[in-house]
Amino acid sequence: MPSGSSARPLSDKRVYIAYTGGTIGMRRGERGYEPAPGYLAARLEGMPELSHPDLPRYVLHEYSPLLDSSDLGPAEWEEIARDIAANYDQFDGFVVLHGTDTMAYSASALSFMLEGLAKPVLLTGSQVPIAEVRSDARENLITSMMLAAGGRLSEVCLFMNGRLLRGNRATKISVGGFDAFESPNLPLLGEVGVGIELREELLLPPGERLQVRPLAGAEVAAVRLFPGISAPLLERILDGELRGVVLETFGAGNAPSRDARLLSALRRASDRGVVLVNCTQCLRGSVNMSGYATGRALSLAGVVSGGDMTVEAALAKLSHLLSLDLPVERVRELMPSSLRGEVSEVQLD
Ligand code: ASP
Repeated sequence: MPSGSSARPLSDKRVYIAYTGGTIGMRRGERGYEPAPGYLAARLEGMPELSHPDLPRYVLHEYSPLLDSSDLGPAEWEEIARDIAANYDQFDGFVVLHGTDTMAYSASALSFMLEGLAKPVLLTGSQVPIAEVRSDARENLITSMMLAAGGRLSEVCLFMNGRLLRGNRATKISVGGFDAFESPNLPLLGEVGVGIELREELLLPPGERLQVRPLAGAEVAAVRLFPGISAPLLERILDGELRGVVLETFGAGNAPSRDARLLSALRRASDRGVVLVNCTQCLRGSVNMSGYATGRALSLAGVVSGGDMTVEAALAKLSHLLSLDLPVERVRELMPSSLRGEVSEVQLD
């Protein structure tokens, strides 16, 4: 285990495993892979290595219904967060088994919902079901259990294929590769080879008291800009009930600036109290709205910088802040600054 892990042997520790659904525990059926209640539990019982003295004891809890991660959203995130809170004192750490498709969204959401976290929450899954011979599930599960019991992490992380990522920095980049996730703007928190190497200097400090912050139905959306996007289209989107919008912009945070109607649609929405956040479509790097006139036009229209946040993290953070009933100006101020390590502090805007 990582150097400095707390003194109790792992076999004395307890990990709570929550299975939400997803490929890792799916069974091959007539219609392709599908989740089946009790199936994962039976597979785990058949794995003698899970009772090895080098591994923590575990309890598996399966949600009902088991869902492909495309069907998970705020209600399920709240169920997971409340489940972790209810079991918080009885376990050393938590593993959430989850489909990979929306794992980065769930990891981001949980990072904001679990305020004051002082124990590890590891999201993992697999590209190939655990029951298949050439599956990545076994290694992902076993290492996640060790990390969850290791006593060094106090945050929501995502672990896949030997790579430990901060949950709210992760994004899915590969449909079929075992290296399905990237942390484009923050180095990995750890790497697993012969040993488990954690980058201690990057880890978040433990929180003081866990509190679940539900995402109270804040209406947010992500809008991907594209060359030729029309002002009427943007007006129709912005004139709805939305309270926050993540604008996915070009390069360093740029948008078309020659269409006055487009910019005034943004200005009007902003004046009505909609929080508009600028995130780049590029995988790496940060928004800098003062670099180009086209970016500056957005800033003048009331758009705030999302820095180097992923869109997944920006959406979750926007929902989180809007759920706290803060004044809109305070939400705008907080968007570019780090709450859970989701954005780099040094920004160009
Ligand atoms: N479609 C699946 C899901 O996200 C894929 C996976 O589990 O990796 O639930």
